Amino acid sequence: MSLDGTYDEANIFAKILRGEMPAAKVFEDDDVLAFMDVFPQSRGHTLVIPKRSTARNLLEEHPERLAALMKGVQRVARAVRAALTPDGITITQFNGAAAGQTVFHLHVHIIPRWETAPLGRHGEGGMADPVELKALAGQIAAKIA
Ligand code: 5GP
Repeated sequence: MSLDGTYDEANIFAKILRGEMPAAKVFEDDDVLAFMDVFPQSRGHTLVIPKRSTARNLLEEHPERLAALMKGVQRVARAVRAALTPDGITITQFNGAAAGQTVFHLHVHIIPRWETAPLGRHGEGGMADPVELKALAGQIAAKIA
């Protein structure tokens, strides 16, 4: 899907927001929902998405909602750091299929990194164990400040 187009209410993140699909939730407030990526590029790979938004990508989002999203990203990234003590954290965001975007509801990736562990390929990893994801979500959630 290119940068142009219309928001698809049937996208997987819209379904998670409506409670139609399960997710290992980490954090939720009025503005954002954070949950574990099921095809993680590293242990603890977390996604943060805006609620009440039909922006497919960063370019379409209202600046004030974008600010609220990034506030949530920082809060969750700090919790990821506190819970998992990574050596670094990669934060990424893709706009359009040509850039690597596969789900067309705006989202930000928080990917903890360790010097000893190479980064998994975007969109090409195996599905994580749901029990392990739930445990990780709980560990990160416990560190939300
Ligand atoms: P994008 O490729 O659009 O930047 O990122 C979409 C992300 O959503 C990918 O990292 C992918 O692993 C993740 N993903 C795809 N389907 C699901 C799903 O059903 N549940 C969760 N939690 N993550 C998903």
